[in-house]
Amino acid sequence: MTDRLAVLYSLPSGFLDLSAEALGASLSGPTLIEIRGRREPPLFVSVLVHGDEVGGWDAVRSVLRTLGEAAPRRSLRLLIGNPRAAAHALRHLDDQPDFNRVWHGAASAALDHPLAVAAREVTRRMACDGCFAAIDIHNNSGVNPLHVCVARLDWYTLRVASLFSPVAVHVDHPESIQTAAFAEFCPAVTLEAGQAGDRAAVVRAAKLLRTLLEIDSLDAVEVDDGSGVALFRTLARVEISRNRSFAFIGESASKCADIRIRSELEARNFERIEQGTPFAWLAQETAGEDGLPPLSITGRQGELDFDGFFDVDGKTVRLSRDTTFSMFTTNHESIRQDCLCHFMEPIE
Ligand SMILES: [Zn+2]
Repeated sequence: MTDRLAVLYSLPSGFLDLSAEALGASLSGPTLIEIRGRREPPLFVSVLVHGDEVGGWDAVRSVLRTLGEAAPRRSLRLLIGNPRAAAHALRHLDDQPDFNRVWHGAASAALDHPLAVAAREVTRRMACDGCFAAIDIHNNSGVNPLHVCVARLDWYTLRVASLFSPVAVHVDHPESIQTAAFAEFCPAVTLEAGQAGDRAAVVRAAKLLRTLLEIDSLDAVEVDDGSGVALFRTLARVEISRNRSFAFIGESASKCADIRIRSELEARNFERIEQGTPFAWLAQETAGEDGLPPLSITGRQGELDFDGFFDVDGKTVRLSRDTTFSMFTTNHESIRQDCLCHFMEPIE
């Protein structure tokens, strides 16, 4: 059966030589690998929860290669999240739910899927065994600075976060993500480790894993930068309204699109962007035939008002307030599967 959890008690030989795609092709579902070290409780690391986000596997490979035959100082539990999707370099397959949306109390039709059953089983095992910290490693489709997502704001969680990046996003709405499930019993963070193929992000993630395998206690963590962590939370999620075509300025199809978006905004994730900045241009001055605004904005409690964020001036859509984006992407597939960007607000 596919997508059922498998548990291995050592790393199969030759695994570290496999690319994420080859690794995916050799496994039939989520695989939890126990690697015994000299100290408990174990560090939990999950990679390839989204099958096309290969940076985590590259970071883990580099850490385990350095160890060679030696046992790590601290035990490690490694979850290879969605190998079937990894084999096809996809976030998830059509017959699968998003594996990072089935972890934590989701009221979702996907909960009977073997991936959701596996998520509950992994959580139960780790809560029972105890867990030093949980690190879930992802890549972004857009250009974002390295940052972390946390579900809790306690001192230990922010300590782990600060080892990777001085920018953290508090995910304070139920998204059924792995980090939220593990935050119930250990410091848990999601590493947003740049775009797939970002070598510097892989090196940074590997350094974090080495530190966590080495130290006795999180109290011993020395943070490089004394300025602490800049915290944000998601205010709203921005999607292209249904039935609207879109393109980015400079793309060949952009002239015919209902909404043409500024592509250079992708380079400004986590920057403060001023009120009045042009965001997009509409093909026609009036609303579409369905009367809906061109962008749909969903807040933590549901739909928000387009006019609270944008002004339409002729055909130009401008920001109606100072705004910080994250996850702004120009990748069309990600936009249709997920969203265009998030609007963030700083947590003082
Ligand atoms: Zn991801």
